[in-house]
Amino acid sequence: MSMSQNNLWNELGGKDKIKELLEKKKKEILSLYYQDFKEGQIKTIEPEDFIDMATSGYERELHLSLSDTERKTLEEIEQALQRLETGQYGICQNCGKTIQIPRLKAVPWARFCIKCQQMYEEGLI
Ligand SMILES: [Zn+2]
Repeated sequence: MSMSQNNLWNELGGKDKIKELLEKKKKEILSLYYQDFKEGQIKTIEPEDFIDMATSGYERELHLSLSDTERKTLEEIEQALQRLETGQYGICQNCGKTIQIPRLKAVPWARFCIKCQQMYEEGLI
């Protein structure tokens, strides 16, 4: 682990805390859909099972029912969880620099640093 990443974990309260935050947000998005789902025909299913389902065969249907923003956030959360595993967390996916800590605190699943995010939103990357 590099010095800057050590500093990152100190500032953010550790890898486990980030993982927890990401999982919590993921659950939040999925439970929004779960509420709708529950109103439908299947009422016996528990939220925890639903999350398993969401990551397996039901993923496609789920993704159709979520809004674009929710779907995009969910994807970004998944990618951030992967980066946690591979040691790439907090590193800008465009320029390779460490993402600003206040930004990661606000958006723990951020893919880009502030500068690259702007470029991304302008369609430049
Ligand atoms: Zn960047």
